[in-house]
Amino acid sequence: MPESLLCGLIGTGIGKSLTPAMHEKEGAEQGLTYQYRIIDLDRRGLTVDDLPRLVATAADLGFRGLNITHPCKQRVIGCLDGLSDDAARLGAVNTVVFADGLAVGHNTDWSGFDRNFGRGLPKADLTDVVQLGAGGAGAAVAYAMARRGAARLTLVDADPVRAQQLKDSLSTMFPGVEIFSAGLDSLGRVLESATGLVHATPIGMVEHPGSAVPEGLLHPRMWVAEVVYRPAETELLSAAARVGCRTLSGTGMAVFQAADAFEIFTGRTADADRMIAHMSSL
Ligand code: NAD
Repeated sequence: MPESLLCGLIGTGIGKSLTPAMHEKEGAEQGLTYQYRIIDLDRRGLTVDDLPRLVATAADLGFRGLNITHPCKQRVIGCLDGLSDDAARLGAVNTVVFADGLAVGHNTDWSGFDRNFGRGLPKADLTDVVQLGAGGAGAAVAYAMARRGAARLTLVDADPVRAQQLKDSLSTMFPGVEIFSAGLDSLGRVLESATGLVHATPIGMVEHPGSAVPEGLLHPRMWVAEVVYRPAETELLSAAARVGCRTLSGTGMAVFQAADAFEIFTGRTADADRMIAHMSSL
């Protein structure tokens, strides 16, 4: 009998998520009987208040693990028995594994971005990194940038309070990194000397077309890493390629966060290249 496992994704607005397909295909490729269920709070008339019951029920029903997405990544922490060091530092969980009667939370958003970054932009200059967007994804990505050794990290957000809060929490965790926050009106100034730009706002998604960064602010001395992954080629990435920047799409982050979760759930190494090829075909 092949090993059989059941996992799921809890969040809202996740009906079209590609995560189940990525997990099930990789599981099948590895000879596992792997089922991955969508548990959409909206569709079931549930809220984050139902999370403790959902997590406990998943454990009781024999789920191997859960992925957790918006708006549950912070709230789920109260339902767990333990956290990985990185999830504890980030204060956000996107992966829960059930083992030995315990529910333990991990965060593969930061590690997925980090693995993709190392693979797609080798030897990227981290002297002066500007990040636009300091929300949920932005927190994970900025953590990865600081952990990876950015010398200076400037966080910019349309909501200056969010940028400032992320700056404050990361500054405590990474005292060796110069971390600043800046208003959107300073974007042009901070980009002049930037060696890299990470984009982590929703602008550029199919639902929010456009680019949050005017093309005139880009220059070929910077690399540009995108977090948005639908579409794979955003307006920002097209503009950055025209200007001559090295670019990195958000597709790899989506795949590597799934690959890392797959490895936590199964204890097996995921074939990331195979998963990228599969994701690109969806
Ligand atoms: P969020 O709502 O938590 O945060 C978005 C932030 O962007 C907010 O702080 C908001 O103030 C800011 N913002 C919005 N428009 C802006 C603009 N024009 N200029 C500056 N700041 C602006 O959203 P999130 O969960 O962080 O998601 C952001 C994007 O990341 C989404 O497109 C999501 O699909 C993508 N994402 C990708 C992956 C992946 O694996 N590639 C994973 C998670 C999220």
